[in-house]
Amino acid sequence: MTMLDRADVGSRSAPMVDPFGRRIEYLRVSVTDRCDLRCFYCMSEDMTFLPKSDLLTLEELDRLCSAFIAKGVRKLRLTGGEPLVRRNVMSLVRSLSRHLQTGALGELTLTTNGSQLSRFAHELADCGVRRINVSLDTLNAEKFRTITRWGDLAKVREGIDAARAAGLKVKINAVALKGCNEDEIPSLMAWAHGDGMDLTLIEVMPMGDIGAMRIDQYIPLSMIRARLAERLTLVDLDETSGGPARYVRVAETGGKLGFITPMTHNFCESCNRVRITCTGTLHTCLGHEDASDLRRPLRASPDDELLGHAVDRAIGLKPKGHDFIIDRRNNRPSVSRHMSVTGG
Ligand code: SAM
Ligand code: SF4
Repeated sequence: MTMLDRADVGSRSAPMVDPFGRRIEYLRVSVTDRCDLRCFYCMSEDMTFLPKSDLLTLEELDRLCSAFIAKGVRKLRLTGGEPLVRRNVMSLVRSLSRHLQTGALGELTLTTNGSQLSRFAHELADCGVRRINVSLDTLNAEKFRTITRWGDLAKVREGIDAARAAGLKVKINAVALKGCNEDEIPSLMAWAHGDGMDLTLIEVMPMGDIGAMRIDQYIPLSMIRARLAERLTLVDLDETSGGPARYVRVAETGGKLGFITPMTHNFCESCNRVRITCTGTLHTCLGHEDASDLRRPLRASPDDELLGHAVDRAIGLKPKGHDFIIDRRNNRPSVSRHMSVTGG
């Protein structure tokens, strides 16, 4: 049976509500741990990737996502690694888009580094993707190469242009890096807002061994925000996505600026999301080592009963909150898996 032949979501099962009353409606799926870049805060230069045989097939990923949609997931984000380097990934996007057509899914989106976007932008839009996040930490080509270890900024810029031309709404995500791009944040914002794109800043999170000192990369966003507020009017917005981002409207540009501050702000009380990796491991919290294997129940039976039980068990164990620490004494990653495995 192909992905598109597979019967629709079928009967809706009970919604996922964790022990703290949080309803799980947002699923992030890492479709590959591989990437065509090696951002220095995300990966070490000589990353060892998972053997391909460990990965779920695209059909299995489709089945897993569909089971979550049947259990009440309304928003699905594909990520990685770099989602667009997974071979044939568009067949998964195409297949998942059937849930948009039935209305079972409210939004299908992805987070990408943009390097392959010019090839895929039109097809993404054609599949019903309306908004995407593109990660871009600098507009300086040389600095971009340093951060990503070999990336080509021009390709990412082309990708962003192609996405916008295809009608996709683009949000830029930038990790704030001490002594690297911190001075560039105002110009990055001016560029993004000038082109009608929101910008969200992210604090470095202590995930995975990257062969570098986290403390050397970390700058609290409270500091960046205070600097911006010296010359700009930042108006707090009430909206949240149930996640770690808090938003302001910048009066001078009219654009929206987000701050993802897992290190300095506790956002867990409204957390509505879980993540699955490309091997079918469910993580109910980005900042915990908790993990539930869904690959085994997925493969053990062609119907989704065992899988549903495994998901319910895992949701029942979703921790209340995370516990990230970066300091000089604690230079180990708080969570040993890399962001590229869990999916950012
Ligand atoms: N490759 C895609 C990309 O870069 O957008 C998707 C995966 S990437 C892991 C998702 C997001 O996580 C990116 O915005 C990236 O900058 C961010 N990220 C990666 N490692 C991080 C870390 N240690 N701390 C904070 N953000 C990180
Ligand atoms: Fe690749 Fe994204 Fe990690 Fe950069 S942040 S190395 S683009 S997965």
